[in-house]
Amino acid sequence: MAVMLAAMVLMFAIRAPHGARSLKVKVARSAKDRREAALLSIAWIGYFAPLVWVASSVLSFADYPLRLAPLLTGVACLALGLWFFHRSHADLGTNWSVTLEIRESHRLVTNGVYRSIRHPMYAALLLYGIGQALVVPNWVIGPSYLIVMATLLASRVHAEERLMLETFGSEYEAYVARTKRLVPGLW
Ligand code: SAH
Repeated sequence: MAVMLAAMVLMFAIRAPHGARSLKVKVARSAKDRREAALLSIAWIGYFAPLVWVASSVLSFADYPLRLAPLLTGVACLALGLWFFHRSHADLGTNWSVTLEIRESHRLVTNGVYRSIRHPMYAALLLYGIGQALVVPNWVIGPSYLIVMATLLASRVHAEERLMLETFGSEYEAYVARTKRLVPGLW
C-alpha cells in the first residue's frame, strides 16, 4: 500500500513541472478526437483507482495474499518505469503534450531515451502498470492501470505516428527507419 502511494506521488511530482511548462506553449495542431478524449479520461480514473483500494473495502472480495517475489519485482518495475518517465519528460521538454498535439516551434526529439525507441514514455507507463499489477494484491485494482493504459496507447500510437509524419515528413521517416516503437531492438 505504501509502495503504491509513494509511486503515485512520484509520478505526479515528475509530471507536474513539465506539464505546467508545456501548457505555456501554444498548441499549433491537434489530432485529439472523441475516442482519444474518452480514453484519456478513463486513464485518469485508472491512475487514481489504487486510492479506492487504499481507502475503502468495497473491492476486498478480489484481494489475494501478497507474496515477496512479485512485490519486489513490482517495486523494480515501478522504479524503472518512473525513471524512464522522468527521462522521457526531460528529453521531450516542452514538446510534450498529454494528448496528440503539436506545439508551436515543435521539434522532433531523437536523443536521450528517444534514441532507440519512439515511445519511451509509453514504455515507462506500461512498466509502471506492470509494477502496479504486481504490488497491489487485488485482481481488480492491480491490473487496472495496465489495462487502461494498454487500451489508450494501442488506440493512440498509430494516430501519433501519423501526426508526427505529417508534421516532420522525411525527418520522421528517417527516425522511424532507425528506431523501434517500445522495445529497443525488438518492436
Ligand atoms: N510517444 C512518446 C511521447 C508521448 S507524449 C513517448 O512515448 O515517449 C505525446 C506527444 O509527444 C504527442 O502529442 C507528440 O506530439 C509528441 N511527440 C511524440 N514523439 C515525439 C518526438 N520524438 N519528438 C517530439 N515530440 C514528440
